[in-house]
Amino acid sequence: MSGDNDAGLVGRLLDVIEGDILPLTEAGVRRGNKIFGAAILRKSDRSLVLAETNNEIENPLWHGEVHALKRFHELPAAARPDPKDCLFLATHEPCPLCLSAITWGGYDNFYYLFSHADSRDAFAIPHDLRILKEVFGLEPGGYKASNLYWTSYAIPRLVGGMATPDRQRLQARLDALAASYAALSRRYQESKAGNSIPLR
Ligand SMILES: [Zn+2]
Repeated sequence: MSGDNDAGLVGRLLDVIEGDILPLTEAGVRRGNKIFGAAILRKSDRSLVLAETNNEIENPLWHGEVHALKRFHELPAAARPDPKDCLFLATHEPCPLCLSAITWGGYDNFYYLFSHADSRDAFAIPHDLRILKEVFGLEPGGYKASNLYWTSYAIPRLVGGMATPDRQRLQARLDALAASYAALSRRYQESKAGNSIPLR
């Protein structure tokens, strides 16, 4: 992804987070789930195939990304584009489970808003970095952000590389989303003692 396309694409991804993922996540957090969401869009016209949110209350494997992939494969075959023709969007940098799921699902890209370090530091979810270190022996940033299977894009980095006025306009939207997710995170953290999720 490069050039004039950046601001339009990032603007569309933020539309999907604000308008499609966030309402699902607000409802999910009310049921006791974590704050992570995902969506799948068509590359051709950037239309939404589906959005989903974390559902660990039902199954601890239903992270936002895996839950979206599960729902995607529950769609009728005719409604399902080839994953190679899709954009994969995650609100948070995918954990090791979800990195693998996106790979096995056949996607050649993913975009994310918040980093693993944000999940640990801003959202009190240290598990991504801890699993990378304890299970895979990887330090932060240790997995291959671009590899044989896919290339990943940190949305804040894309925005930071843009010229004004796009950068200022999109940064304001990132700031607003950070505030929305901080509020959701407070709600999750207040409720989590009562849930049965193994890694809260
Ligand atoms: Zn995950």
